[in-house]
Amino acid sequence: MTDTNTSAAGVRTAREIIGRSKDPVLDENNPFEAMMARFDHAAELLDLDPGLYKVLRAPEKQVIVAVPVMRDAGEVEVFTGYRVLHNTSRGPGKGGIRFDLNVTLDEVKALAAWMTWKCAVVNIPFGGAKGGVVCDPSVLSISELERLTRRYTASLIEIFGPESDIPAPDVNTNERVMAWIMDTFSMHKRHAVTGVVTGKPIEMGGSLGRREATGRGCVIATKEALRHLGLPMRGTKVAVQGFGNVGSVAAQLLEQEGLTIVAISDKSGAVYNANGIYINDALQWIHEHRFLIGYPGADAIAADDLLELDVDVLVPAAVENAITRKNASRIKARVICEGANGPTTPGADRVLEEQGVFVIPDILANAGGVTVSYFEWVQDRAGYFWDEATVNDRLQSIIQRSFHDVLSVASRHQVNMRTAAYMLSVERVAAVHRLRGMYA
Ligand code: NAD
Repeated sequence: MTDTNTSAAGVRTAREIIGRSKDPVLDENNPFEAMMARFDHAAELLDLDPGLYKVLRAPEKQVIVAVPVMRDAGEVEVFTGYRVLHNTSRGPGKGGIRFDLNVTLDEVKALAAWMTWKCAVVNIPFGGAKGGVVCDPSVLSISELERLTRRYTASLIEIFGPESDIPAPDVNTNERVMAWIMDTFSMHKRHAVTGVVTGKPIEMGGSLGRREATGRGCVIATKEALRHLGLPMRGTKVAVQGFGNVGSVAAQLLEQEGLTIVAISDKSGAVYNANGIYINDALQWIHEHRFLIGYPGADAIAADDLLELDVDVLVPAAVENAITRKNASRIKARVICEGANGPTTPGADRVLEEQGVFVIPDILANAGGVTVSYFEWVQDRAGYFWDEATVNDRLQSIIQRSFHDVLSVASRHQVNMRTAAYMLSVERVAAVHRLRGMYA
């Protein structure tokens, strides 16, 4: 048996492995490569022992399933589904399920690993997982979507479970999809298993505050960053890219804190008002017209210009790779709060650091969602449900504590917040591996 702490004489260190094997980042827009570039950097700084380095680079399990679905017209179509468990040393796999035409195994692997690091940054007892089905849900009827969800769940029945792997909503999946997953799993187990998914409807074991949790977490982290930098809240100008679950809630709560939201965007375009946009008014417009385009309370601007506005805080809360080495030098914000997963490429990181931009990295900034998912799982297992104030108070203390945990690693090692977040989380996962010992 080998203690992973001590490498036998002649065994290469993680630094040497990385030094010899590290390819230049071939395609930094590939999320798996972007994630691995950050992991490698943290592993190198931590001088992670070589066995652990190799273990943490490789996802534990990658499952590909064929998902046959009877279309309403009677024809059978077969979709491809994925579920990846990156690391489950700290607890069951946790991560959302995406229904999207752009889903690839590489993307799911990156998102699963991000979940490992995210859960470790906020120190909740989950590992990292993610899943997806390659499909365009907009062309599926509700009953086709239900059959797709149920067959995907049935194909992964021995993977999912409250003790092993707990899905949640992600791109194009929602409470209703989670309800179908819970029902399918429960029918197979012959009893109701509420803890098998989070992000469920409240009536069937969901948690109060879950819908707002990611945006709320972004706001808590942004307030801590402003306080740390000695910047005021009142009148601070903010631009928010993406006006969905994360972006709209973040905008609404930042406005309530006295910040001025000067620009917002969705996939239909971006709008700007130097005096501030009334977020409830914009939400009402979306409610009635579905998209921001044509919103009369602000002027239309080019979508890409939103990122380069003269604002204090930028919240990218839409898509991956929004901030790249091409546009990073034109960003004027002092603080970036990454509501989305992977909105900044590794090349852009370097430029932003040189410009002195304070980046709250995704694995910390948007961890509010998984934190309240954890609360939901705890409540389901206890069969006892908390009021919303309790959920929000506990969320606040976890995000504040995590922010300061990351900040103290950053100042101790003189690294930026992203590298510090990776160092903290990689070390937390590594510590559990060392305690458990290597079954190798
Ligand atoms: P959503 O579907 O509710 O909203 C996405 C928003 O982004 C929509 O307003 C959409 O129109 C807009 N958008 C899409 N492409 C755009 C573009 N090119 N430019 C500007 N806007 C664009 O999704 P969401 O749940 O808010 O998730 C947003 C991001 O946050 C994703 O990266 C997701 O993985 C991440 N995230 C979400 C959660 C959560 O709890 N929902 C948790 C952690 C991370």
